[in-house]
Amino acid sequence: MANAPVQRMSQLMAKTLRDDPADAEVLSHKLLVRAGYVRRTAAGIWSWLPLGKKVLANVERIVREEMDAIGAQEVSLPALLPREPYEATGRWDEYGAELFRLKDRKGGDYLLGPTHEEIFTLLVKDQASSYKDLPVILYQIQTKFRDEARPRAGILRGREFLMKDSYSFDTADEGLAESYALHRQAYQRIFERLGLDYRICAATAGAMGGSKSEEFLAPAEAGEDTFADCPHCDFAANTEAISYALKPVDATGVPAAEDIDTPDTPTIETLAASLGVPASATLKNLLVKVDGEIVAVGVPGDREVDLDKVEAHFAPAVVEMVTEADFATRPDLVRGYVGPQGLEKVRYLADPRVAPGTAWITGANKVNTHARNVVAGRDFEVDEYVDVVVVEEGDPCPNCGTGLKLDRAIEIGHIFQLGRKYADALKLDVLGQNGKPVRVTMGSYGVGVSRAVAALAEQSADDKGLCWPKEVAPADVHVVAAGKALQTELALDVSGKLAAAGVRVLVDDRAGVSPGVKFTDAELIGVPRILVAGRRAGEGVVELKDRRTGEREELPVDEAIARLT
Ligand code: ATP
Ligand code: MG
Ligand code: MG
Ligand code: MG
Repeated sequence: MANAPVQRMSQLMAKTLRDDPADAEVLSHKLLVRAGYVRRTAAGIWSWLPLGKKVLANVERIVREEMDAIGAQEVSLPALLPREPYEATGRWDEYGAELFRLKDRKGGDYLLGPTHEEIFTLLVKDQASSYKDLPVILYQIQTKFRDEARPRAGILRGREFLMKDSYSFDTADEGLAESYALHRQAYQRIFERLGLDYRICAATAGAMGGSKSEEFLAPAEAGEDTFADCPHCDFAANTEAISYALKPVDATGVPAAEDIDTPDTPTIETLAASLGVPASATLKNLLVKVDGEIVAVGVPGDREVDLDKVEAHFAPAVVEMVTEADFATRPDLVRGYVGPQGLEKVRYLADPRVAPGTAWITGANKVNTHARNVVAGRDFEVDEYVDVVVVEEGDPCPNCGTGLKLDRAIEIGHIFQLGRKYADALKLDVLGQNGKPVRVTMGSYGVGVSRAVAALAEQSADDKGLCWPKEVAPADVHVVAAGKALQTELALDVSGKLAAAGVRVLVDDRAGVSPGVKFTDAELIGVPRILVAGRRAGEGVVELKDRRTGEREELPVDEAIARLT
């Protein structure tokens, strides 16, 4: 077994803190900062210190191994990207305020990549010419940039963060389904190995035009997603998706529109800011109706908003407030639906009663306003109409009718059958078997690598601190020298022997730090096993402790080493 390194705490570039950082709201933020894993550099921008970097690298390794196992090829594409491909797909504008845009010295437009569908599509367009070159899955583990409106949850929601993104390219729909299935399996293995508790949830229902998407959600208090879980069968869905399942409305004769370019689409965060309210889940399902010149913004419940600010936002339209109850009594009010941010063009489901020059707001992700000369039925094709509702605890499961439970969760991964949207926009064809060009169909798949570290911290921590699963822990053993020179000598000796046997060791050899502080720090740092050279060091006896269970036993040194190797 190769020699593993010994990390000495006396030399470690990290300080543990007794108190939670003042701005920390979620557990992982508090603990990762207090245990010296990360430091905040600016809002949503983080530095990883040695212990944090080790955990991050472990997550990366697991992700890489499982991606390699499905035959995916690792590449590294730039994060600094030119505008043109994003212009071609419409995302330069559609991405809204979340996109970091910048100019070079000549005035050329660039962006910092939030996700890379365009650039991967162009890479394959450049490299693949025949159906024989496909299928192919490409991936990278790379820093992404998104100017998140509320980077408040520490590592969970960075403005700069680490993502594994992959893209599949196939000539036929069945091929795409297969690439998607491979990713689904790889993700299951990744999250199992990471030791995360997770659910796979339908992310969008039929309204996305047949394309399939699932989210991997890690249940946790700090999560920003609400998902519905059936206690009886294996049904799980995010609340947006389940609202379709529960309340489909007869599609007959109801016109809908999709893929309308919406250059100035403000995000829910932008709207929330203009309303002077937090963009929390309570802002989901905002409901709007325009009657001629009037835009009505409805906020479910009786949340107070500043009507002047709403009016200013929609000027010159006149704004009227409505509540959920008004929908029952006022035929001039309609509901709409907007698809997931960034992955599909915004899709509109319009009611035939809506007059041209209509605006409405809805959905969890985007807010849209329009004064356009669009006529339902003339400019849009008829599609299904979906009534978006707020799902309540106890609503019936669409599979078995059992009352659903609502829980909070962290989105740790997302897999998506994109279809030909990007291939169409960027004209990605290969020569088919019959010598004719075939349009390529794609999937895109993301794992939040840095977010997974925080999600793990959330799920595994206890009241003493972090408590890592073995595969991701920054070390296998935390050796504590609890005493004077004799204990330190023994601790270093044991550490050397363990390292020689391939065990990753963190040793607390700090002079002038009391055993009590060292024990507290060891529990805060959360390495799975703690070995203490203390009171009985002179007899060659150490204490071996399990961080999670707290179980401890005294053993002769050699036996302790044998247990750990
Ligand atoms: P969210 O709903 O949390 O904003 P998203 O749906 O915008 O996430 P995707 O575009 O699906 O994210 O990106 C793939 C994965 O990248 C997500 O499943 C998530 O794990 C991770 N991720 C997205 N945004 C962030 C962020 N700001 N910080 C850390 N990880 C992120
Ligand atoms: Mg997002
Ligand atoms: Mg999401
Ligand atoms: Mg997502």
